[in-house]
Amino acid sequence: MLFQDLKLIEPILKALKIEGYTTPTPIQEQAIPIILQHKDLLGCAQTGTGKTAAFAIPVLQNLYNNRTQHKEQKTIKALVLTPTRELAIQIDESFAAYGRHTGIKHAVIFGGVSQNPQVDALRRGIDILVATPGRLLDLMNQRFVNLSHLQVLILDEADRMLDMGFVNDVKKIIAKVPAKRQTLFFSATMPKEIQTLADTILYKPEKVEV
Ligand code: AMP
Repeated sequence: MLFQDLKLIEPILKALKIEGYTTPTPIQEQAIPIILQHKDLLGCAQTGTGKTAAFAIPVLQNLYNNRTQHKEQKTIKALVLTPTRELAIQIDESFAAYGRHTGIKHAVIFGGVSQNPQVDALRRGIDILVATPGRLLDLMNQRFVNLSHLQVLILDEADRMLDMGFVNDVKKIIAKVPAKRQTLFFSATMPKEIQTLADTILYKPEKVEV
């Protein structure tokens, strides 16, 4: 199977060519068609399997295809929650790379650094926000982040977010996003606590395991 076989649009195929990607990894092959159909997904996958591209590519494509329908051009339409600053930066770079020909705007926020440049980025207006939970909640409480037009919520490395004590922050964030949305949930392991969280936030998810 090639990326061309996944019904991807030209701006994304062009970007993947620049990246030197030709064949999708197993998680990409399985997850991309599900996400393009706007279905919820429960993905059991480790880092290194290509899971970032598995969600970043179809999310970019869905936003690109909907771009003329957005009355609210300057609001966040997709949110990725991830446990660490390193992962957040990596995911943001993936959106930059795969979305280079789409015009879709993205930004990344994480704790431990000044919030001012992050607030400036939010003010400029972005389509996709990548965030660690603590800093996001902090900026939400200061009213710098509006998630009322969110269409897609992505939880990356959910098990690690729980291990790092982010469970309450994650729950508080989810309580403030629209109930009608697409949710993508990724975790390397599926202990009971993770399964319970997945059950409460996913609607009829398709399951993908690699
Ligand atoms: P991830 O599991 O998302 O951390 O990705 C692991 C690495 O694989 C990253 O460096 C990606 O750039 C790379 N990668 C992801 N998908 C592909 C692909 N289809 N072909 C080649 N490399 C890929």
